[in-house]
This record gives sequence, structure tokens and C-alpha cells, in this order.
Amino acid sequence: MENLEDVALIEYDVAIIGGGAAGYFAAITCGESNPGLKVALLEATARPLTKVKISGGGRCNVTHNCMDPILLCKNYPRGHKELRQVFHKFHVVDTIEWFKRRGVTLRAEADGRMFATTNKSQTIIDCLNNAAAKAKVDLLKTHLVKSVAENDGQFTIFLANKPPISCKKVLLASGSAPIGHKIASTMGHKVIPIVPSLFTFTIEDSRIDGIAGLSIEQVSAKLSFSNSKKKYTQTGPLLVTHWGLSGPCILKLSAWAARELAEHQYQAKLELNLLPDLTREQISATLLDLKTSQSKKNIYKCLPFPKIPKRMWAKLLEHLEIPADLSCAHLSNKHIEAFLTLLQRCTFQVSAKGEYKDEFVSCGGVSLKEVDTKTMESKLVKGLFFAGEILNIDGVTGGFNFQNAWSTAWIAGNNMKSSE
Ligand SMILES: Cc1cc2nc3c(=O)[nH]c(=O)nc-3n(C[C@H](O)[C@H](O)[C@H](O)COP(=O)(O)OP(=O)(O)OC[C@H]3O[C@@H](n4cnc5c(N)ncnc54)[C@H](O)[C@@H]3O)c2cc1C
Repeated sequence: MENLEDVALIEYDVAIIGGGAAGYFAAITCGESNPGLKVALLEATARPLTKVKISGGGRCNVTHNCMDPILLCKNYPRGHKELRQVFHKFHVVDTIEWFKRRGVTLRAEADGRMFATTNKSQTIIDCLNNAAAKAKVDLLKTHLVKSVAENDGQFTIFLANKPPISCKKVLLASGSAPIGHKIASTMGHKVIPIVPSLFTFTIEDSRIDGIAGLSIEQVSAKLSFSNSKKKYTQTGPLLVTHWGLSGPCILKLSAWAARELAEHQYQAKLELNLLPDLTREQISATLLDLKTSQSKKNIYKCLPFPKIPKRMWAKLLEHLEIPADLSCAHLSNKHIEAFLTLLQRCTFQVSAKGEYKDEFVSCGGVSLKEVDTKTMESKLVKGLFFAGEILNIDGVTGGFNFQNAWSTAWIAGNNMKSSE
């Protein structure tokens, strides 16, 4: 480390580390509410807001159409308790209003995800950049923070290949970057080990082989592990991929079971109910009815359950070794029994975590026990704040992770004002 007496320090009131969603939002909030403060936004790369850019398939799923803060919290496997206080101060309604006041209208889709009406993440990026410029935030790109030191209420931020910065308040908003966690732990904070959340499941199974792209709009799923009593259940749409299973139901399971999945090296048993809206009796009656109502029809050609796509139905029949020429009249009780098991308790072995990053977030981060969620200030180091994904908070898919970034950043930005 350099001898500070020999180095000309650049002075700021507030320095925000990380030019992502949380860093921008905090910098804007801080600058807008305290026009006199000198606010620096330090971004390691030449391209801030990269995740905003690629998020939601280039559309940026800004938030979720859930106006009740208590219900909103239920979408966060980590942080749901602490977020109650956070969302009490700034939640979805405030996000919508915030963007609206700056010329961006958000619109909800049928599944609750909210996007800018332009359907372009660039709209959100432009909005944040304009607001940051208006709030006179100094955006310092290619400023990689290596370490932070605190001495008597004054912070020194050490950068790679640049002179250090001195400031009175620091916000760590470095997302899931290991260097941010290292800085937090050097300053005394406990960092809960990071494991991935929100991923697809790798499954090798003839029942889903060759039918990638097919989906079922609603299934219920149960995930369990060998030598463990823990079970996770979720409902939602299911998507077959080239390497296994995905879709909101699987992504939600991966989030709630993120830690157990990591501990079990991503080996788990997945049990699906492909027709959760129907009882055993209803399914059985539908199949029995085929024997008379469609007696001459080939079982492969009739679709008794419209929610199961045709090609998937054929795969299930193949799996049960039902002869290709079987007519419905010849369905036996044994066949019906086998169908019931397959439709309601269709089990798969998860063999690995899918690598495709559609929406990927980290489980773990700075422990919330050491952060005051009223202000997002550290309980250990006065003047040090946290916001966004660096914290041990993560949500399921659907806009909840950005909502965490906006809310925690807004609170931090409003509480970094004091310049004593
Ligand atoms: C592919 C993908 C799609 C996603 N889609 C969605 C979605 O549609 N909706 C949703 O809600 N969530 C989505 N997420 C999750 C969401 O992007 C994150 O939760 C969110 O971006 C977190 O914001 P953040 O500001 O805390 O962290 P980040 O966005 O990760 O920003 C952190 C910034 O800090 C910088 N940085 C790190 N270390 C340093 C350092 N030492 N010095 C200076 N700068 C540093 C990084 O370069 C980065 O720019 C998606 C994630 C991925 C990967």
C-alpha cells in the first residue's frame, strides 16, 4: 500500500463502488437529495450497467407487478424478513413512479414481469445515465477499487493504476464480484459463502429427449435429496431444454434450494405433477372414458389432456412401452395405473446445474445481521453502506432482483447525506 502522505488524494463526500443498478440508483438518489455533495460513482469496467443491458433478454425486467410489500417479500429466498422494512420505505409502486417521473413508463405482462413500454433495456440505461448527469454524479469508469481503508471516520479508496480517493461515506454496490465481498470482510463484515441461484437443471432422460422447446403452462414440482429430510415444492410453467428442464417452476426451485443443491453437488430427485389441477380420480375417469368414447382411435393420436403437448404425450407413451398401434379400447387397468403414476409423480434425477445463464444471481453475500436496514449503513463501520446483490439477498426470477437493487440503493442514497 502507498504511503498516503506522498499521494495527492482526490476528495469526494460520497464514493459509490459499482456502476450497476444499485450503484446508479444510490448515486442519483444521493445527488438529487443533496445538491451540494460531491458524489463519485466508481465503475471497474468501461461499461457500466452491463447487467441491466443484458437482463430480461435485452428488455430489462425492471420490477414485478406486486403492489403489496408483504407479498413482495415472499419472493426472496434470502432476505425476505429484512426486506419488509426496506419495502416499507421503497417498493414497486415507488419504482414505477420513479421511472415515470423521469419519462419511462413501465408496463406489466400477464405473468407480472414489468418492462419499459419500449421493451428495450437501453431505455432504462438512458434514463439512469440522464438522471445521474442531472444529479451531477461524477461517473468514473475504469476505476477498479482494490481496497478500502477507514481511519477516524474518513475513508481512503485504493484504485488499480489510479490515485486513491478520500471520502466521508462509502457505498459498496459491487454486486456478486468477489472483490467487493473481500473488501467487506476486510472491513470486519461476515460474508455468507456465495453459491449460484436461478439456474436450470441438467437431466438426462428419454422422456424429455428430443422435445426441447416444449412447455407446460402449470406443473407442481418437489425437490428432494438423498440423506436429507428437506424438501422444496414450487408450482409454475415448465420448459424442456436441450439439456434438461427449465422454466419459472424450475428456476424458483433452484433459488429456494440453492444452498442444498450446492451441498449435494447438484444431485437431487425431482418429482413433477404434470396435471396439478386434476385429481387422481379425474385423470383416471378421463382415461377410462377414452376406452368407450374413442375406442377405435390410436392412443398416440388422441390427446386426453390438452395441457400436455402432443410430442410430450408420445414420449410418455413410449416410456410406458405402449405399443404404437394400441387403440384406446385396449387400454388396460395396468396402463391406466402406470399413466397415473407418470402424470402425477413423474420423477427425474437431476445430475448437474445447467450452465445457460438466462437469469443468474448469487445466493449469499454480506450478512444482513450487520447492516441496519433502516439506513443500509453498516452496524460495524460508521459511514459504510451496502446496496444490491452484494448483500445476502436474492429473489426469484421476475424482476425481484432489480427491485432489491432499487430499494436498498434508494435507502442508502438517502442516508449518505450527512457530510460531518
Ligand atoms: C443474464 C442476467 C439477466 C438478468 N435479468 C434480470 C432481470 O430481468 N430482472 C431482475 O430483476 N434481475 C435480473 N438479473 C439479476 C440482476 O441483474 C442483478 O440482481 C442486479 O444487476 C444487481 O445489481 P447490483 O447493482 O447490485 O450489481 P451489478 O449489476 O452486478 O453491478 C455491480 C457493478 O459493480 C462493478 N464492480 C464490481 N467490483 C468493483 C470494484 N472493485 N470496483 C469498481 N466497480 C466494481 C461491476 O463491474 C458492476 O458494474 C439478471 C442477471 C443476469 C446475470
